[in-house]
Amino acid sequence: MRIIVKKIFLHVCWLLGLFHVSRYLMKDKLQILCYHGFETSDESSFRPNLFIKKETFSRRLALISKYEFPVLPLNDALDKLRHNNLPKNAIVITIDDGFDNVLNVSSDILQAYKYPATLYLTTYYAQKESPIFRLVVQYMFWKTNKQLVNFGDCIWNKHGDMSIDLSADDECDRVIWMCINYGENKCSEPERISICQQLGALLGVDYKELSESRILSLITMDEVKLLINKGFDVQLHTHRHAFPTDNESTAKKEIVDNRDVIGQVVDYPTKHFCYPSGVWSKTQWPWLERLGVESATTCLPGLNDSSTPMLALTRFLDGENISDIEFKAELFGFMELMRMLKKRMRTA
Ligand SMILES: [Zn+2]
Repeated sequence: MRIIVKKIFLHVCWLLGLFHVSRYLMKDKLQILCYHGFETSDESSFRPNLFIKKETFSRRLALISKYEFPVLPLNDALDKLRHNNLPKNAIVITIDDGFDNVLNVSSDILQAYKYPATLYLTTYYAQKESPIFRLVVQYMFWKTNKQLVNFGDCIWNKHGDMSIDLSADDECDRVIWMCINYGENKCSEPERISICQQLGALLGVDYKELSESRILSLITMDEVKLLINKGFDVQLHTHRHAFPTDNESTAKKEIVDNRDVIGQVVDYPTKHFCYPSGVWSKTQWPWLERLGVESATTCLPGLNDSSTPMLALTRFLDGENISDIEFKAELFGFMELMRMLKKRMRTA
């Protein structure tokens, strides 16, 4: 109900011309858009906030083009942001993680509009070439038609006989995280693959088919080279998609390993970073500076100006869960205006 009211409100504001007012008011700010995966099967039904359909992404770029929002390469935009000489209503397109379908789906659409994009690549699964364990587990539990499953023989279950009613969300979540935590903390990649194969057999989801479809896999390093040839800028996102806020040496290793792998396929210094899962703290800023990282993007909403810290840049996370009118409201800075008004009202 709330969403319907919001959409009606936004449509009315659009018809009243208020989006063009907000576009004018926000003209000097930088909008950074964030995408993750692009659907080739049923990924956007599984995770609408993580994946977007090809048609939806095409509509987004068509809208940007129709209303002539300038799309800049990240490095260029940040340089202009520092020197206060951005073109009006500038936009940067970023893509996180490096899902396999970035190459097959998004690159052609971006090329059709001649829009540059930065890929923040996490490299562990790009090298392993197996699907992302955590997502596979979650996907299988989402995909299964089974209702009552006994996980008694699973290595990650320490409770013996464990018959679970998968229609009970809390129970299902508990089992999912028991499996993920065990696999991520105690297993090698081949052991994690064995867990997925057994889980697939129990849940009636074909792991081999899922693995071969690559819908939950990252791009391979050979494919990263193809993306670079298509003009993509590839930047840092840690090796294992983790950047602890309380351990500098582990955090540093994540960037060093990530940079080493990316360095094998790019011929420029990687100095732009994206916090994995948007988790960050100011305590990490000196670590990043010592590693020569000049900018870092978060998952916080908002537009950026010259007062925004370079290591806490804000972005709009777009996905299949965002309607056309909501995207338009973000694009024209209308949502930013609403956020500013809300903040001011709260302060008052
Ligand atoms: Zn990520």
